Amino acid sequence: MKILKLPKDKLDYFASVVQSFGEVHAPVEQDGKFAFKRLARWSEARLDYDRTILPPKKYFLPPRETLFQFKPGAGYIPFAGDMEKKIVLFGVHACDVYALNILDMVFGGKYPDPYYLERRKNIAIIGVECVPDAQCFCRSMRADFVDHGFDLFFHDIGGYYLTMVGTALGDDMVLATRPLFEDVGAGDIDEYKRRSGEKRKKFQIEVEIRDLPEIFEMEYASAIWNELGEKCLSCGSCSAVCPTCYCFDVADDVQLGTRAGGRTRTWDSCLFATHALVAGGENFRKSRSSRVKFRFYHKQRGFVAEYGRPSCVGCGRCISACPVKIDVIKVLDTLREMQHVVSH
Ligand code: SF4
Ligand code: SF4
Repeated sequence: MKILKLPKDKLDYFASVVQSFGEVHAPVEQDGKFAFKRLARWSEARLDYDRTILPPKKYFLPPRETLFQFKPGAGYIPFAGDMEKKIVLFGVHACDVYALNILDMVFGGKYPDPYYLERRKNIAIIGVECVPDAQCFCRSMRADFVDHGFDLFFHDIGGYYLTMVGTALGDDMVLATRPLFEDVGAGDIDEYKRRSGEKRKKFQIEVEIRDLPEIFEMEYASAIWNELGEKCLSCGSCSAVCPTCYCFDVADDVQLGTRAGGRTRTWDSCLFATHALVAGGENFRKSRSSRVKFRFYHKQRGFVAEYGRPSCVGCGRCISACPVKIDVIKVLDTLREMQHVVSH
């Protein structure tokens, strides 16, 4: 991987040049919270944000999108929508890039999703280093560093951003502004390593994930799932804000009396009462406890079996979003404590 450095005082100029690669979207502040938005001006960008309300997945798997349209006589009409729009997503944190890499495995795997993949091709990612807060546990989930899935990634090393160039597109961005970038020296790498060490010390939460699949196997019948089910409101907020939740529902919207319409897909959540409802009225997960349990098992157990790692990246969003304070870290800690109770 090519590594260069960009003087911090040249970032504004770099951002202005990058506009020629697509619409620039970055985190902006709204009532004390942050959201990725199209920038009206670069000064709106807040690269010092903690976490955005919704993760960048909203660009690749929009909350609602038309897949195609249909009309009597014309049949199936492909619907490109805005899939080909070039966007530069500036300021994505490592955990969110990692989450996109996880979505790549799902949408680029056995059943490739052309809608997702087309957007992934057209949306450039410029990552930035972050500072962990009290809800971040991305380090425990091995998602505090990414070596792919971005075009450029900026790491703060004082007066410069150490810049990792991840793709040919990232290289083109550098070439378009080449005089701004400088070669790195041993001192820059040392400073990067020193700061990485400092960042590691800032994590306040540590979650051991090595034996989680085994713990989940043991606790399938645990009372904890009923306790969580009693609290959960089935609001689906945890899924909506999660960078790796990807369930969707597909429906045909037909215009009354015309037999014309469109097929849409909309975010769904495994916490919704109707998520496992099938034709004939059978519902495989009627109770809230079975749905909460399913979400935890899918993230921490089922995904490991299929893809070799949990699908949680430790971003902490679901902890902030849950109105009844169901906290993934506390749940994992409780499950682990149950093992000690039995073994001592
Ligand atoms: S489960 Fe929660 S902490 Fe884990 S990736 Fe999803 S929102 Fe983030
Ligand atoms: S955010 Fe909390 S209350 Fe809402 S569905 Fe998720 S776990 Fe249940």
